[in-house]
Amino acid sequence: MISFLDLAKLNNRFRNDIDTRIKAILDRGWYLQGEENEQFCEHFAEYCGTKYALGVASGLDALHLIIRAHGFGGGDEIIVPANTYIATILAISENGCTPVLVEPDLATYNIDPDRIENAITPRTRAIMAVHLYGQAVQMEKIWALAKKYHLKVFEDCAQAHGACYQGKRVGNLSDAGAFSFYPGKNLGCMGDGGGITTNDEELYTKLKAIANYGSHKKYHNLYKGMNSRLDEIQAAILDVKLAHLDADNARRREIALFYRNHINNPLVTLPQTYDEDAAVWHVFVVRTPRRDAFQQYLTAKGIQTIIHYPLPPHKQPAYAEWNERCYPITEKIHAEVLSLPLSPVMNDEEARFVADTVNEWQG
Ligand SMILES: *Cc1c(COP(=O)(O)O)cnc(C)c1O
Repeated sequence: MISFLDLAKLNNRFRNDIDTRIKAILDRGWYLQGEENEQFCEHFAEYCGTKYALGVASGLDALHLIIRAHGFGGGDEIIVPANTYIATILAISENGCTPVLVEPDLATYNIDPDRIENAITPRTRAIMAVHLYGQAVQMEKIWALAKKYHLKVFEDCAQAHGACYQGKRVGNLSDAGAFSFYPGKNLGCMGDGGGITTNDEELYTKLKAIANYGSHKKYHNLYKGMNSRLDEIQAAILDVKLAHLDADNARRREIALFYRNHINNPLVTLPQTYDEDAAVWHVFVVRTPRRDAFQQYLTAKGIQTIIHYPLPPHKQPAYAEWNERCYPITEKIHAEVLSLPLSPVMNDEEARFVADTVNEWQG
């Protein structure tokens, strides 16, 4: 059986370092907002190339906090790709903002920059770029639109830790970047965790206070804040794993390249990248009109796959008000995509077996 992602195997490579760091936390008896969090945030900001990084409780919280700190609400509109993971959209609507869905580009699965301008109205406040499946959005046109219409730009980097655009890492391409450290992400902890990157000192200070009960000083509350913090154990685990992120992403690239060079089944459309540095291959998404049959075939051959995602946000019961809408590109993606196994701990034989098995599929 080739598992989609063997998390135990992935994390056990760092067992000794993680053990040592967790023991030190047990000895110190300090569990929140301590030196582990401080050190990891410093290292993560340095890695992303930003001035600041803030540890928070999840990727959803990171997105929520960025919107909240800008004071957006009351029907303010935020542009977002229609095929993103639901969390991006939840963060917008839970702030009282309106998500404005824009179709993706079928070649990259990222928001189609040429469709954004039509979606801008006098109520538009921001564009949320989502670096989906591990590939950085081509930001140039988004920056130009933001400048023209005085909009903020945010990034959802939950699937793209370390991906680059024009030599800069994601999280450093906008006003603020939101990261998830959910276990299965390219940089994942052993529970929930999230982070925010920014170069804006004022924004950083505000985010930090809002995430800590709105308090900038103990027992003094500047904002009606929330509790969203990265704990010391998760921060220590992330700090250990951050040192290996580039090597892990390089191995992901190697496997993705192998797949793209060896899979040649005409029934299966392979993912494209506009630049090898742009993609960190969080998932390797192929497309075929007979997706469900393809998945059953692979399962029978012992290859575990996942659908990212089976139902688009506008077809979810939670957004019943959108269910009648039609986004044909998004719907085509959700009907046809399948993610093949790809992880830093997969070996060459496993990758070859996956490629050969895909090639033998007759539809
Ligand atoms: C995982 C993910 C999130 C949410 O992160 P959590 O840490 O699970 O809250 C947000 N956006 C995208 C694109 C994601 O993949």
